[in-house]
Amino acid sequence: MSDLAAAQQALRKTFGFEAFRPGQGEIVSAILDGRDVLAVMPTGSGKSLCYQLPALLRDGLTVVVSPLIALMRNQVAQLRGYGVAAAALNSANDADENRMVLDQIARGELRLVYIAPERLVKAETLNLLKRAKVGLLAVDEAHCISQWGHDFRPEYAALGGVQTALGGAVQTVAFTATADAATRSDILAKLFSREPAVFVHGFDRPNLRLAMAAKAGGRKQILDFIQNHRGQSGIVYCSSRRKTEELAEFLRDNGIKALPYHAGMEPAARSQNQDVFLQEDGVVVVATVAFGMGIDKPDVRFVLHADMPANIESYYQEIGRAGRDGLPAATLTLYGMGDIRLRRLQIDDSDSSDEQKRVERQRLNALVSLCESPRCRRQTLLAYFAETTQPCGNCDFCCDGAEVIDGTIAAQKALSAIVRTGSRFGTEHLTKLLVGDATDAIRKFGHERLPTFGVGKEFGEQEWRGIFRQMHGAGIVALDITGYGGWSVTEAGRRVLKGADRVTLRKDTLKPATRKTGRAAANAAALADGGTDDTALFEALRKRRSELAKEQRVAAYVVFADKTLIDMVRLKPRTAAEMSAVHGVGEAKLRQYGEVFLEAIRQHASGSP
Ligand code: ADP
Ligand code: ZN
Repeated sequence: MSDLAAAQQALRKTFGFEAFRPGQGEIVSAILDGRDVLAVMPTGSGKSLCYQLPALLRDGLTVVVSPLIALMRNQVAQLRGYGVAAAALNSANDADENRMVLDQIARGELRLVYIAPERLVKAETLNLLKRAKVGLLAVDEAHCISQWGHDFRPEYAALGGVQTALGGAVQTVAFTATADAATRSDILAKLFSREPAVFVHGFDRPNLRLAMAAKAGGRKQILDFIQNHRGQSGIVYCSSRRKTEELAEFLRDNGIKALPYHAGMEPAARSQNQDVFLQEDGVVVVATVAFGMGIDKPDVRFVLHADMPANIESYYQEIGRAGRDGLPAATLTLYGMGDIRLRRLQIDDSDSSDEQKRVERQRLNALVSLCESPRCRRQTLLAYFAETTQPCGNCDFCCDGAEVIDGTIAAQKALSAIVRTGSRFGTEHLTKLLVGDATDAIRKFGHERLPTFGVGKEFGEQEWRGIFRQMHGAGIVALDITGYGGWSVTEAGRRVLKGADRVTLRKDTLKPATRKTGRAAANAAALADGGTDDTALFEALRKRRSELAKEQRVAAYVVFADKTLIDMVRLKPRTAAEMSAVHGVGEAKLRQYGEVFLEAIRQHASGSP
């Protein structure tokens, strides 16, 4: 049997999955061929499986480096659920537990061990692993090794030496969801001793509905959205700790199971809230962005940003925590001028280098452009990650439309202001020029004598700023990020100047406006997706799952993913053999839970509770 065929069989038998997701097959093959691998794949695309599967098929221990203890715990719980010998070494274990894991490693009883980076690089750990014959070193969240990544971790810097310390070039594979070109080359240089196979997979997450709205109507906007998603698990992100508590209370007063989560809480209360979120259905966590990093919950049905995220990469990572199971999930990001100002100040006041601040400003501007984008959100978002796509049909712009006006003349005025001033001035200067404000800076350069001076009086300064951002989003101007943030005209912009292309601008960005959010209940949609509307059975199975999860003190999805329950509703298996055909039911899970769920299905069919 070929390696890949064996992998496919294990996929079915152990994990109960029918087929590889896009990208997984080729990565697994490369690993089974002994190649080093760097894979950039979006959150929820199934990165973990890419190293877990080879770990099962090959000799030797697989060491997984992971920065987050919560994440490790979840992964180990999930693997054990699949009947795989896995354990974690970290500071959350007590000394006995860690000693037991060390013994298991020494006796060669484990297939995978998850280790925190600071523990891995210790001499005693390395000595033990050297004797234990490590076959594969898998580095999760590999962007943490890079200064350019948005969460650089110094402990990761020492990982480059680990291969050597383990006695030669141990096969190394690295995974991350966010790595632009700069981060990627950093990872390549720091982590690998030979050239890895690099896989970069699409950033698109078509199951996520993208929506953004200017803040208006305060908490009502938030409540409306959540009420449209009643009974679903979701995360609401706020920019301050206090706001998480106040908003959670407000939501509770309105009958929603909402809990706060932030770094300032008592650790016990915090982890209790997290457990409730993982184990129960329909809980909304109101959190600062620290929440979700280590949480591997695949059935989060919505992410709502009550405040604008820090930048476009954070935005994408945060909304990426919704819908990891591939089922429909909704997102809504609220933004206001206050948010934008706050984020600018945070960047200015940080102790990053000037170079880094410039990159940060560019990332923030990209997010603002997305918020004010006059076209499909996904097109704008993916363009930032250098991907092109058709209008998606699953964003607020595609579905609800946004009122646009022909902005060609306005854009031509702005473009000619850029050209006439030598393509080196930023938004502030050009805005003054357009509205005809002869400031000192304008006079210093003699710009009050230009024909463009004062040609844009039909808009105010704030509106012009919005126009520049939208032109940026549409790719007709480019921002010089190495200098002082001066605008220049792109090839597409030149076509606009010549009158060959037209530009549309969004009317509502010129004043704050409210917008409707989609009313689709994602669970109903998810069930429809599975070809059935048997909601009552689905609820009965969810209830069963909750009970089991509580009994065993694990997250609900460790028992079964939503997708598995939906598939059960669709197939209504009556025998163990039929049950094993359900998505996500491998051998171990069939043994452990098969009968319980068969019974629940039988009860439902006979009409008993
Ligand atoms: P990532 O690490 O890329 O964010 P995960 O590895 O956590 O994503 O996978 C997300 C979810 O997808 C998990 O619930 C996992 O069990 C599931 N999954 C992974 N691979 C497959 C597959 N081939 N078929 C079905 N489900 C899969
Ligand atoms: Zn769209």
